[in-house]
Amino acid sequence: MLEASGHPLKKGLIEFLRRPKRELIVNFPVQMDDGSIRMFTGYRVHHNAVRGPTKGGIRYHPDVTLEEVRALAMWMTWKCALVNIPYGGAKGGVAVDPAKLSPRELERLTRRYATEISLLMHPGGDVPAPDVGTNPQIMAWIMDTYSMHTGFTQPAVVTGKPLEIGGTLGRVEATGRGVMMVVAEALKLHKIPMEQATIAIQGFGNVGSYAALTAYQMGARVVAVSDVHGGIYNPEGLDIPRLMEHVRQHRTVRGFPEAEPITNMELLALKVDVLIPAALENQITAENAPNVQARILAEGANGPTTPEADEILIEKGVFIVPDILCNAGGVVASYFEWVQDLQSFFWTEEEINSRMERILRRAFYEVLAKEEELRRYGLKPGDYRTAAQALAIWRVAQATLIRGIYP
Ligand code: NAD
Repeated sequence: MLEASGHPLKKGLIEFLRRPKRELIVNFPVQMDDGSIRMFTGYRVHHNAVRGPTKGGIRYHPDVTLEEVRALAMWMTWKCALVNIPYGGAKGGVAVDPAKLSPRELERLTRRYATEISLLMHPGGDVPAPDVGTNPQIMAWIMDTYSMHTGFTQPAVVTGKPLEIGGTLGRVEATGRGVMMVVAEALKLHKIPMEQATIAIQGFGNVGSYAALTAYQMGARVVAVSDVHGGIYNPEGLDIPRLMEHVRQHRTVRGFPEAEPITNMELLALKVDVLIPAALENQITAENAPNVQARILAEGANGPTTPEADEILIEKGVFIVPDILCNAGGVVASYFEWVQDLQSFFWTEEEINSRMERILRRAFYEVLAKEEELRRYGLKPGDYRTAAQALAIWRVAQATLIRGIYP
């Protein structure tokens, strides 16, 4: 299908795109608060650097493996290429449960891991960011460690930093806000006015809550949301700012007044215009996909739909906004943070949002155009996931051919 884009993809080129460029495994000691020494294993993988420095988060989780980091690094290559920001893909991680470390242990682990992978990090070469289990404070320690080694402050070596040391406005809200920016385009396409749109959101963490808030601000009706403890439903629409306050106090959406309880499975089957899975992977499966009644499925989470469910939904005519497009707002904001750090010149939140909207909207319509183009070569109508993937892969392939194979 890639050949359809006018340039034959050579066999060796496909092999090149499949493989990570470099993989680093580091085993390192950390001194614990009780004086004992524990060994940890960490990784940093660069999948592809043809279009620019590699970009990708650092995950702290007990189940982190080289295979997982490798897969996520490749995912980042396609995501960055799809929204056409000048980055390749990377990922890193340490097999550790950060909740089981004291703050001092977490800092020592982070500084040692940053030191171990610093031969791969560089503001112009590889720029990490937060992922599962890491946060702005951890990014600050990575930035500080790297800067101490090089002898001067280098904010652009990592993104997702606190505002005080070169972070960007709008980073926290970026992914959820980006989800709604593409949903707004999908609604326009379906001729559904925003004020009449009904939305259900699974997951009320970073992505889900800011997608809900943005939807509320745009005038849509968010009728249901859920978290790991269960969900709430109000057909008249939920007051999202008040709900966020409720979650700050109670740590769950459950018990919010003016709403009925609902299960996660019921939420996924609601008759709404837009369903936004924003919790975990593999939530929409062959079993529950036949019950989905939403017209638009906007994938806030990474990989929320299984391949079997995907086929069922396409068959049913559900319009799927695939994850690499739908949740790309986060990496776009990271890109803005890096650009601002390199220029030492900072933008307003309004500038951040309007620039992000331009990038996501452009990518949205490019995916639509690609789907139409690839239909002529046998793509199933409505398979926007394959279209997005093909467009991204094609961009990296094209950049490789233009640069040429060294030497
Ligand atoms: P988070 O930890 O802040 O929130 C996750 C939410 O999902 C919580 O409300 C949690 O209670 C809920 N949840 C967990 N298990 C659930 C279950 N079984 N049923 C229903 N709800 C459940 O995480 P996040 O940062 O919002 O990320 C959510 C998804 O979005 C993940 O797939 C992540 O990879 C993806 N993503 C996040 C970003 C980002 O910038 N945060 C960017 C791109 C993609």
